[in-house]
Amino acid sequence: MSTETIPNQTQNLTDGMHIVVDALKKNGVDTIFGVVGIPVTDLARHAQEVGIRYIGFRHEQSAGNAAAIAGYITKKPGICLTVSAPGFLNGLTALANATTNGFPMIQISGSSDRAIIDLQQGDYEEMDQMNIAKPFCKAAYRINKPEDIATGIARAIRAAISGRPGGVYLDLTTALLASACDQDAMEKTLYTVVDPAPASLPSPASVDRALALLASAKKPLIILGKGAAYAQADENIKTFIEKTGIPFLPMSMAKGLLPDDHPQSAAAARGLVLQNADVVVLLGARLNWLLAHGKGKHWNPDNHFIQLDVDAMEFDSNRQIEAPVAGDIASSMEAFVAGLSKYPIKSDPAWMDMINKDKAVNDQKMAVKLASTAEPMNFFNALKAVKDVLDKQRDYYLVNEGANTLDDTRNVINMYEPRKRLDCGTWGVMGIGMGFAIGSAIVTGKQVVSIHGDSAFGFSGMEVETMCRFKLPITVVVFNNGGIYKGDSPNLSGGTDPSPTTLMPDARYDKIIEAFGGDSYYATTPDELTKALTAAIASKKPSLIDVKIDPSVGLESGHIGNLNPKTVIKEAH
Ligand code: ADP
Ligand code: MG
Repeated sequence: MSTETIPNQTQNLTDGMHIVVDALKKNGVDTIFGVVGIPVTDLARHAQEVGIRYIGFRHEQSAGNAAAIAGYITKKPGICLTVSAPGFLNGLTALANATTNGFPMIQISGSSDRAIIDLQQGDYEEMDQMNIAKPFCKAAYRINKPEDIATGIARAIRAAISGRPGGVYLDLTTALLASACDQDAMEKTLYTVVDPAPASLPSPASVDRALALLASAKKPLIILGKGAAYAQADENIKTFIEKTGIPFLPMSMAKGLLPDDHPQSAAAARGLVLQNADVVVLLGARLNWLLAHGKGKHWNPDNHFIQLDVDAMEFDSNRQIEAPVAGDIASSMEAFVAGLSKYPIKSDPAWMDMINKDKAVNDQKMAVKLASTAEPMNFFNALKAVKDVLDKQRDYYLVNEGANTLDDTRNVINMYEPRKRLDCGTWGVMGIGMGFAIGSAIVTGKQVVSIHGDSAFGFSGMEVETMCRFKLPITVVVFNNGGIYKGDSPNLSGGTDPSPTTLMPDARYDKIIEAFGGDSYYATTPDELTKALTAAIASKKPSLIDVKIDPSVGLESGHIGNLNPKTVIKEAH
């Protein structure tokens, strides 16, 4: 600390940790997700004291996932608080996942004594956290002096939500947290960040180029990504799509941006539209693995791309983008809607007819699967039971993780409102489930239905205690087929150990919630599942439904088995 800031006795004394809380509060932070311990316990206590909600978790990864999804839903950085070294590392997976997905989040972590860390003298939970965090986040900062707190918080907020949103690491040293300082002098340094996510307008020439290309299309397609959902430009996106009549394909978390039963949805004709579209608009979606990189048998190799993205570095990542539009999607869509007076684009109805024929065939195939009478249930007749209940609801969040549970739920359960489907995202990561469920319930106050595979649930299952402690209106649904992908794989040695993909086939996940006073349900038939889900949602209480699924029905890796390297084990099946 510099000599001028050493307080004298006439001053009103405070410390770094109080100033950090004041700075967060001044910048509109109303919720912190975390796990306390040395050196941040008092920081959390004080945050709660001044009216910031503190949501304590059982593992930092879930706290981080809750913060990340809070950021996605609210467009404000979600805050995760962790302790030094191990707690910091536990949170880092969530921070990296937030960065990969473009969710705004700040992981604030306490850290040990810098002098000891730098000489590697063996401190309690010693780790050079800021430098370790750097490759996993959008930006990493450390605040060393109380007089830098305002700046540190401002930099973290701007980095998290401006441009492409992402995860930010903010290191608070033990010395900073404990350093005595003058309350009045420090308060004067604090401020509210002005316009933390400034609009970035697309150039008129780029909009013109894009609309001219789109006007030339015979078979145009708009792919909606979660960047479009995040932008909260819902009205202009709807207007543009409906005025032009262009079919749209939602990526997983963009489902509901326009309702899934919208007549222009091409979701049930995905293969056909990717193979046939001649001009494709990527609206806040990346040409990554989830779109087969825009290449190969799934794609028309001669199509043309228009891409709207806030991050100009994204263009040409996999295929040439002939009409890049760099800007935030709210500003870009405003320009696109205005541009329709110059380019009165109308998609040829024959194109939609072709899509509708394909949709009808695929819908019929799906109807057959959903009508299955299999017992024990498979994923489809179980999901039919869930769909029958959820189609009557609109105002709920759907969290979804797993392999088959993820892929089949995405295909079966319609979404009708924007940003309400929260799932494994860009990485296809397991373990986001309970964090996303709790984070979304906390920041919205709405009902959450959280559908997990039994393996996926295991990564964050202890957070059932958190959801009961905070009495959240979350219904956890565990699709229990007793394994990773499936429960009945053999041990190739012929020995008695369970196979690598086998979990306990008769596990009763519903019993877990009973330990914490939540409501438990067990469903072995579609009828029981419909009744259980209806009752669980109506109660608005924390609840868990164990759904017994046939251990033999899962596909290896769900819909992405093609990504598995071919191994001897695969051949043996
Ligand atoms: P999906 O997985 O749904 O296809 P991605 O996460 O791959 O979506 O892509 C989202 C894209 O949206 C990213 O390239 C990101 O830079 C961009 N993006 C995020 N927010 C905005 C925004 N407000 N305006 C414009 N682009 C955005
Ligand atoms: Mg399973």
